[in-house]
Amino acid sequence: MAHVIVVGGGPAGASLAFLLADRGVEVTLLERQRDFAREFRGEVLLPTGIAALEEMGLAGVLAAVPRSEPRVLEAYLNRQRLVRIEGEPDFFDGRMPAAFSQPALLEGIVAEAAKRPAFRFLRGATARGLLHEGGRAVGVRVYSEEREIELHADLVVGTDGRGSLVRARGGFEARAQDLPMDIVWCKVPSLDAIPGVRVYLGRGHLLIAYRSWDDRTQVAWAILKGTFGELRRQGIERWLEDMAEHVTPDLGEHLRASVGNLEHPFLLDCRADRVTRWSVPGALLLGDAAHVMSPVGAQGLNIALRDVVVAANELVPVLREGAAPDAVDAAGARVEAARLPEIVPIQRRQALPPRVVLQRAWWGGPARRLLARFLVTSLGQRLVMANARPFLQGIGDVRLRV
Ligand SMILES: Cc1cc2nc3c(=O)[nH]c(=O)nc-3n(C[C@H](O)[C@H](O)[C@H](O)COP(=O)(O)OP(=O)(O)OC[C@H]3O[C@@H](n4cnc5c(N)ncnc54)[C@H](O)[C@@H]3O)c2cc1C
Repeated sequence: MAHVIVVGGGPAGASLAFLLADRGVEVTLLERQRDFAREFRGEVLLPTGIAALEEMGLAGVLAAVPRSEPRVLEAYLNRQRLVRIEGEPDFFDGRMPAAFSQPALLEGIVAEAAKRPAFRFLRGATARGLLHEGGRAVGVRVYSEEREIELHADLVVGTDGRGSLVRARGGFEARAQDLPMDIVWCKVPSLDAIPGVRVYLGRGHLLIAYRSWDDRTQVAWAILKGTFGELRRQGIERWLEDMAEHVTPDLGEHLRASVGNLEHPFLLDCRADRVTRWSVPGALLLGDAAHVMSPVGAQGLNIALRDVVVAANELVPVLREGAAPDAVDAAGARVEAARLPEIVPIQRRQALPPRVVLQRAWWGGPARRLLARFLVTSLGQRLVMANARPFLQGIGDVRLRV
């Protein structure tokens, strides 16, 4: 019977391990954390991600996960409200984007996988290196319970995120995109005036606030790359004051009052890249390990889940039929070929908005005002929706066939 090691129990790794075990393939899932809540995780699921979980048969797991569905979206330019959208627009097809507790989702998926005898889960197990034989990855060196062990497999799948060890040790190469921003990320106590999402644009800044699954208000503040050191030197109070000056008075006052109640403020070093090949003999990368997505449009988690559906389609048949090395490697190459027509254009589309929104040149302000005036017209809104569609619905149909 074929054996697969999946390195990293994030959304990609947990769901792939579930699907393989459900289809009778022996799988060992390694996760360095003992508790899913210890690793920060993106939490907005879009129609693409929700549909992928449904395809996997995990709709029941998702239904039990705490969530917050935004029913109102408001966008502001220079603190003036431009638009307010209420309710569930038709284009979501009943799959309303929402902030979900990712730790609860992951616990639900591994609990479901654990009902399959082919599934083995090692928590607190860190992959430290790859084992090679004759130029082929044949296993993983794992540190677990204060000792190092060697595990062998027919295939190693790296779903170990943006700092992937499998990527680094497997001889993969990546090309990075140039991103002009980083994001300051924190939660503040709930503000009832924000039942959904607010987006504030203006003066070279972008701030997004939304109600999260735990009812607290999540704040994401885009800053120019390289300016966080200065911000940190100024201290949290100054930093909250900068944000407060940028938003409407209700949120501004709330931010000032939250000085002592900030939860886990941290800097997200924004990156976007993609490996030049997703597989080498014996190893395959999926999710962030293969392509770190820019935060624009909340794509990373959703794209990772779609990778998994396609990977299961290609891998399950060859793993069930004896896992011949050439067939396994050819399946890995087919996964890449099937995913690039979505991921390349999405990464391209993600690159533009930060350049306009964070533009500090003299023409940035007038350009944003002009654009904002256009975007509230019906033609502008149609254009926005046409451009948002690939982010919400994906490019092409991703269906589970195994
Ligand atoms: C602040 C922030 C906000 C985000 N918001 C969103 C959002 O709203 N919507 C969205 O779609 N995406 C969002 N993202 C991106 C999203 O979180 C990722 O794209 C997504 O989690 C990728 O899933 P993954 O399974 O590929 O990797 P990850 O979720 O990164 O999971 C990798 C797992 O591998 C484990 N691991 C790493 N190294 C090892 C090792 N050597 N051995 C064993 N285990 C290991 C890690 O502990 C982790 O559990 C956000 C990201 C950040 C940082």
